This record gives sequence, C-alpha cells and structure tokens, in this order.
Amino acid sequence: MANLFNFAQGIRLLIGILVLVVLCGGGIFIVWTSLKILAFRRQQRKGDREERSRRFDANGQARPPRASGVCNHCGRVFDQLNYMTGNDRICDECMEKRTGKNALLN
Ligand SMILES: [Zn+2]
Repeated sequence: MANLFNFAQGIRLLIGILVLVVLCGGGIFIVWTSLKILAFRRQQRKGDREERSRRFDANGQARPPRASGVCNHCGRVFDQLNYMTGNDRICDECMEKRTGKNALLN
C-alpha cells in the first residue's frame, strides 16, 4: 500500500514538473516572439522613414526621380542623379550650387 502511495505521489510530481516545463516553454516562446515582432515593426518604421525621406523633402515636396547617368552641368557620371523636367539631369553637387541647399538633406 505504501509503494502504491509513493507511486501516485511520484506521478503527480512528474505531471507537475511537465506542466511547469510546458508553461515556462510557452512563456519563453511568447516573450521571444513578441520581441521579434517589436524589432520587426521598428525596422519597418525605420525603413518607411528612410524611403519617405528619399522620396520627399522636409516640406513634403516630392523629390525628382533619381537614377544613374551623366550630369548635364558638370559632365561627371553618378550612380544617383536627379532627373528634372525637360530631360535635365543634375547631380546633387550642382543642385546644391544652384539652389543653395542640399538635395538630400533639405
Ligand atoms: Zn553636376
């Protein structure tokens, strides 16, 4: 009778440990997933901000489309050129000289 009692106690202890392990594992999984989701959203917001600042200036005006090409004003080749209306291609340096402000920062 005493052996059966010990057996039942042992089983209850094992079940308790198992439930505890499963709950801890679930908790760790939930916390880990939440952190990953937060990190992903933060990265997404940062990417959106960068994309927006690349396409619009501080006043909300759309920047001219950019692509690689040769500047019409200084004749140098650039990876990123501003394509203005009237097929005018101008680099950031020439744009800054002309307008007095940085094409990317303002
Ligand atoms: Zn230029």
